[in-house]
Parts: sequence; structure tokens; C-alpha cells
Amino acid sequence: MNLDRLGWNHFFAKNFASYQQQGYSAARVALEHKTAYILYSEVGELSAKITGKLRYQASGLPDFPAVGDWVAVSIHEEKAATIHHILPRKSKFSRKMAGAKTEEQVVATNVDTIFLVSGLDGDFNLRRIERYLILAWESGATPVIILNKADLCEDIEQRIGEVEDIAPLVPIISLSAIRASAGFATAERDLDTLISYLQPGQTVALLGSSGVGKSTIANQLIGTLVQKVQAVRQGDDRGRHTTTNRQLILLPSGGILIDTPGMRELQIWTSDEGLPDTFGDIETLAQHCRFRDCQHDREPGCAVREALEEGTLDRKRFVNYQKLQKEQHYLSVRQDKKAALVEKEKWKQIHKAMRNHYKYKHR
Ligand code: GDP
Ligand code: ZN
Repeated sequence: MNLDRLGWNHFFAKNFASYQQQGYSAARVALEHKTAYILYSEVGELSAKITGKLRYQASGLPDFPAVGDWVAVSIHEEKAATIHHILPRKSKFSRKMAGAKTEEQVVATNVDTIFLVSGLDGDFNLRRIERYLILAWESGATPVIILNKADLCEDIEQRIGEVEDIAPLVPIISLSAIRASAGFATAERDLDTLISYLQPGQTVALLGSSGVGKSTIANQLIGTLVQKVQAVRQGDDRGRHTTTNRQLILLPSGGILIDTPGMRELQIWTSDEGLPDTFGDIETLAQHCRFRDCQHDREPGCAVREALEEGTLDRKRFVNYQKLQKEQHYLSVRQDKKAALVEKEKWKQIHKAMRNHYKYKHR
């Protein structure tokens, strides 16, 4: 197996250089099962464990390998390896483990493109798309919005317009996964647009609420690609090994699909509705801070910190509030970028018009 086929690129190569000098090999985590891992490497599949040192030095779950990770390994006898280091992650999806103390659990890493799937049925909800988008941006992956169940929607263009407004610059693809699987030509074309994101070495994952059609789409992607490759190979059975129960699925097109249970359960962290109202108490408290732009960090006369210390304000709730603010900041930055781009585009048009005008006059 070629490393490029597994998503290897300059970023990882650069970070791997020093490990290579130490004699380690590079491999990518394809399956995680408690403390055992299945890796893909240049010499094929490896079953691996982590070193005691890595375990000892880990300060929490995020320091353990996750599906999608590139790792530095030593390879022993046939098909066994030890994981010594995890290479820096290009992107990371985490969820908060429920329990006494909430702990971060990494569910997928090094995803290039995240398909944010939403249904165009009664469940269509812009606020939810917004929140998934934030989650996607925070992960470091690039989102593509997929509006599935197009067959259940009367006015797809209107919906797309609404999504465009909240997701400037994000590609939006409407699709009927069910029609694509039934062989409708237009639906298959939409699916091909999706497949165009599965270029060789590109890692993709699906994200969205349950019931929106993620499995249907995944099966379609895998199925369609397998069919296409098999049609080309005719009788060659290499295409068949692509749909094993690995969580990192090598698609015959060259793309890579990450599909982990954790990724499937990844939900946005708070309810969809009424978010601005949700933290009214903190907003009210903040009005009593000495400084209007108080960050509730170290400023003197901070009413919020006072309430935290007194215990009248729940710390977890405050952390959520801060997270919300950060997310809103993300959104406004995106929107500013969009505004700047629109402005730039406008001037480009003007210059073009001027040039044409000039040409015309001087012909
Ligand atoms: P997941 O929970 O996101 O993985 O969703 P599934 O793929 O399991 O799909 C949930 C339900 O929606 C299933 O009954 C699918 O058959 C159905 N479904 C998926 N895609 C479409 C579609 O494009 N149109 C319609 N009408 N139903 C769909
Ligand atoms: Zn304050």
C-alpha cells in the first residue's frame, strides 16, 4: 500500500522526518478497539498496541491514537507493530464523554472534508446547520453542506438560498440519496458532485443528526465507486475488499471515508432553539461588571467571576456560554470574509467592465 493512497501529504511528511531518522515507519489508524489498533501501512495491515511510555505520558484521552491518526511505529514480526508517537493532527473531531467529569474523546482525525448532512424534509433547521458548521470549522476540516432528501422538498432553490445566507462560501449540494440508489440520472449526477470531493488521498467524513441519510449516502458512495471500479477492472476482485468493517474505508476512487461510531454519535453540544435567550442570566450579570468589554477573566470588579466564586453561577454553564461566544465570533469572522469577497468581486466586475469599455472604444 502506498502512503499517498492513505492520505499522506507534505504536512505529515514534515512532522514525520525526525521519526523516520530514528527508524520508525508511518502508518494510519484504521480501527480502534479499546487498547488495540488496526493500522494501514506501506507493508499492509498491522495490528498494534501503544508503548507503555506513550500511555504513561498521556494526560488524557486525546493523547491516545484515534481513527484517522498518523502514527510512528516500529514493526515487529509479520503484521504486528508498536505505536510510539502520534503525528500532529490536521483536524480533529471530539465529543465530550458523559460522566462525572466531562472529558474530551477524539472520534476522528485528519479529515479534509466534512459532509454536513441535513434533511430537506420536515426536520430542516437552519440553526442546526449553523451549529454543525461551527463544529466543522472548529475541527479544522472544510465543510460541504449536503441537503439530502431532495425528493421530499417542494422548493429546493429556496432552501439552498436560505442555507447560502447562513453559510457563505460553503459549497452546497442538494441530493436525493434514495433516488440515486434507485438509479435516477439526475440524482446520480448530484452524487457524482459529492464524489468529486473524494479525490485520491482526500479524507472525508459524514456529520449530521440521525435519520438525515448518512448511512444511505455512505453506502451509495462506497457502492457506486466500487461498481465503477469493478466495471473497469472486469473480473479483478481487488475492488471487493473496500467495504470491510474498518472505520477508515479506502474507496477505489482514491478517496478515504472515515466512519466511526463516535462520529455518528457526535451531536451539537446544546439545544437548537432559543440560544440567545439561553444565557440571559449571564448577560444580566455581565451588565454589572465594571468594564463594558469585560472578558470575565482577570478584570477587577467582574460580577460574573464573583457569581462563579459564590457558586450562584454554575461553572459548567459559564464554560458553555464562553463556547457559544467563541462560536459566534467564528461566524461573524466568516461573514466579514464573505463581505470582503463580495466587495472584491464587485471591483473585479467594475474593472472588467472598464477594460471592455476601453477595448471597445479603441477598436
Ligand atoms: P442516518 O441515521 O443519518 O445514517 O440516516 P439513514 O441513512 O439511516 O436514513 C434514515 C432514513 O431516511 C432511512 O429510512 C432512509 O431510507 C431515508 N432516506 C435516506 N436518504 C433519503 C432520501 O434521499 N430521500 C428520502 N425520502 N429518504 C431518504
Ligand atoms: Zn466580568
